[in-house]
Amino acid sequence: MSAILTHTGFQSDEGAVIHKQAERAKRPAKAGEGQDVQVRRYAMQREAQKVLTGFTYTRKRDGVDHGCTYRVTRCHRNPNSRAWNPGVDVMHYPDTGRYGYGNLVTCGSTWHCPICSPKITEYRRAELAAGAASIMGRDGEIAMVTLTYRHSIDLPLAESLKAFYKAREKFFAGRAFKDAMRDVGAVGRVYSTEVTFGVNGWHPHIHVLVLCEKRIPGIVERLARLRDQWARSVVKSGLGLINEHGFDVRNGDYAAEYIAKYGHEPAVFTWSAAHELTKSHVKQGRAGNLTPFDLLGILATRQGVEVGDRIIGPAEAENLFREYAVQFQGRQQLYWSKGLREQLGLENDRTDEEVADGEGDSDIIGTITSDEWREVLRLNGRGQILAMLGKYGRQALPEILALLPKLNPNRPDEPWFREENKFRGY
Ligand SMILES: [Zn+2]
Repeated sequence: MSAILTHTGFQSDEGAVIHKQAERAKRPAKAGEGQDVQVRRYAMQREAQKVLTGFTYTRKRDGVDHGCTYRVTRCHRNPNSRAWNPGVDVMHYPDTGRYGYGNLVTCGSTWHCPICSPKITEYRRAELAAGAASIMGRDGEIAMVTLTYRHSIDLPLAESLKAFYKAREKFFAGRAFKDAMRDVGAVGRVYSTEVTFGVNGWHPHIHVLVLCEKRIPGIVERLARLRDQWARSVVKSGLGLINEHGFDVRNGDYAAEYIAKYGHEPAVFTWSAAHELTKSHVKQGRAGNLTPFDLLGILATRQGVEVGDRIIGPAEAENLFREYAVQFQGRQQLYWSKGLREQLGLENDRTDEEVADGEGDSDIIGTITSDEWREVLRLNGRGQILAMLGKYGRQALPEILALLPKLNPNRPDEPWFREENKFRGY
């Protein structure tokens, strides 16, 4: 039992610790939150905005279809309407030492937005860890089941997902799964849906954390017997036979590791040094798999990535990201089975939008006027300005703003963009 506590950094016995961790999660973790990271996230988000601008998705309201634009296209870009002081606030967060913007639209999309997503997943990670600590504190156990299927490069994501969801429904609603949950004394489950792109195309998969109230000898073997049931559900949904990777059960150590890493951005690109490291325009995909945000990375750097014996370049990355964005719009990434949160003593569920909106205590250090903000957007300089503030301090804000009208976005050697011009658009 100590493994999971070590991994998650939680004490098992006190609710206070759990609460504190959840509180801390309201602001981003310090690790990996440097200035480069902010520049990179804004650059990737801009790519998501470009890819999705002009596209709509359909949402039913009162039985009528409505065409909606993707919220990420406005995120951290469009000011909220505020009559008394239009413009954009520049915030300083004393806890992390970081800078940010206030009075802007926040999309809260964990699928689409490289700025909102890390905030949301960090918060959810702390919740998962708190839930795990609560279970382990009762001397319980956690196992992790991963479900996927064989997919091929020419299977469109829409078709693939439709069948996958069908298989998932059959499996979870089936007698075998319910019996297994009862046998292992499951208090509840947390489902996490994820997708990567690799040699064999889109790779959707679901991780199911099974939280049990006591330790069950042989829990992995017991759950492993569900393999046949999953295989049948997949075949019945039209997806063909699963291979050895299609169904996987792991013990608590693995589950703990998964929770500890949940939402951490894997880096295909060593961004800050992307251009120094290699003169090549191609990078090797991590284990041959790209995350959707890696696709935005390809767009932001105009640098292809090798996946198997293919190179995914910007044009393909754009199509792939759009295909993905359409399919995952409105879907829930993390799902807790009914009543589980209450049983684990977790506070009320905050929506992704609420989590993405709150960044902890902050001071307003200045306001950027609407005209100045237009310049910032023209220069695609949202991330750079925050990085400059991080480097030169809050007193540099007026100087930075005074420079804006003079800067030419087509001149990558502009004085204060020089160090940060590793991304397209400057
Ligand atoms: Zn956003």
